[in-house]
Amino acid sequence: MARLSHQDWLDRAARLRPVTVHHIDGADHAGDGDTFTVIAPRDGRPLAEPARAGQREVDLAVAAARRAFDTGVWPRLAPAERGRALIRFADAIEAHREELALTVALEMGKPVTEAYDIELRAVAACFRWYGEVADKLIDEAPQTGPDALALVTREPVGVVAAVVPWNFPLTMAAWKVAPALAAGCTVVLKPAEQSPLSALRLGRLGAEAGLPPGVFNVVAGEGPTAGRALGLHPDVDVLAFTGSTAVGRHFLRYAADSNLKRVWLELGGKSPNIVLPDADPIAAAASAAWGVFFNQGEMCTAPSRLLVHSSIAEHVTDAVLERARALRIGDPLDPATTMGALVSAAHLARVRAHIAGAQAAGARLRTGGERVDRPGHFLEPTVFDRVAPDMALAREEVFGPVLAVLTFDTEDEAIRLANATEYGLAAGVWTTNLSAAHRISRSVRAGTVWVNCYEEGGLNVPFGGMKQSGHGRDKSLHALEKYTDPKTTWIRL
Ligand code: NAD
Repeated sequence: MARLSHQDWLDRAARLRPVTVHHIDGADHAGDGDTFTVIAPRDGRPLAEPARAGQREVDLAVAAARRAFDTGVWPRLAPAERGRALIRFADAIEAHREELALTVALEMGKPVTEAYDIELRAVAACFRWYGEVADKLIDEAPQTGPDALALVTREPVGVVAAVVPWNFPLTMAAWKVAPALAAGCTVVLKPAEQSPLSALRLGRLGAEAGLPPGVFNVVAGEGPTAGRALGLHPDVDVLAFTGSTAVGRHFLRYAADSNLKRVWLELGGKSPNIVLPDADPIAAAASAAWGVFFNQGEMCTAPSRLLVHSSIAEHVTDAVLERARALRIGDPLDPATTMGALVSAAHLARVRAHIAGAQAAGARLRTGGERVDRPGHFLEPTVFDRVAPDMALAREEVFGPVLAVLTFDTEDEAIRLANATEYGLAAGVWTTNLSAAHRISRSVRAGTVWVNCYEEGGLNVPFGGMKQSGHGRDKSLHALEKYTDPKTTWIRL
């Protein structure tokens, strides 16, 4: 496709009519007339008024998913048929890539080119990948005595509710919805209230691509009402959540207070990026800057703690600063923009409070820290050094474009610092010493460790956290374990 210009995207935005109704049982559902306002981060103005789900809409969506599961219309379909439906869904997403990317950029503020090139590519690829594997899974027939046959079959768990955040509104949804559907489950998706529009469009696209009614439902609404109703629902068998650690705790409570549904949690992070003295300092700095400022720093895996050996700290930090200052903050619809707007005024205020706290605690502000003087929720890329390990900036997730630089003198100290948070989502290690890379990778408690790179991966590798970054894995065949139960059938011959 020819690259669209800023004006092209503005014209498309002016023509866009976002979907504002739930998708329940294969049809649009307007709810009871109650709505809420989605604000566009790029200008702080109202973007759309989607329907707001309460208990009634959640009940209807779960009942539709329950029927589609219990009648067998989806779980008893031949796996190859399910796979073909998911591949048609992937085709439909690709055919609507421009509209979906625009919707994501408008509702949550990331650059539209990143939404198009990165997010939408990932979403279509995810549905395609699980569509392709749906009929390639093989069950077990364990060894038994001669008078018996034992079968271990993977059974879909039933109705899955997926509750997801706004930073990658469609990717986070796809990572849950695609494997759950491939496994034969039916799904109710609740996007974040900041970014419901792309998910509502996805619900309708699923029906257009031929998913049977009730198989994939989407309800828009707020966390403490619609999200809570799903968490407590007696007919939801599995709750797959991506979001903050604080809300993850709520879901464990909801499960305990209702039907003991299984809860899978992909939570926050405060990922360390360790640079040893023998590393390529420029490559490490370039990757560190890209990683922490990509997506406005609203990344669960953001390498928000740069742990750099004191002998090269100044050199590496200077190279990071150069890249931070070169970022182009601007309208997310402008293809020249490399950093867009933070998701909301409230989130911008939270990130600024972290910055003020770090300054008060004595960290040294090297660049940024200020709101950009234009309408919308824009913040300068921000770097602090002289961050002490006990400062909040070294321990708490900011979820914005704010880097904390800490120094160390020995490998043991680097490992100790790396592990000194409640989180364990990801980590980076930069070194040319293979043994050190292995030692550190094995010692850092994180679900993913990148060596001499950051944010790399494919659909065939699992993704998820340790410690309070959660448990269970998205992506790869491992994700299917969340949505299936092993069933033993023992037959006497
Ligand atoms: P959040 O936890 O505030 O919200 C996530 C979802 O939970 C939303 O759909 C929201 O409506 C819902 N929710 C909020 N309060 C609820 C409640 N009381 N009961 C039920 N549901 C509720 O998170 P966010 O601000 O949308 O996203 C940012 C967080 O997500 C960060 O902590 C980030 O690290 C994390 N995240 C993690 C991953 C990962 O894969 N580990 C990926 C992306 C984001």
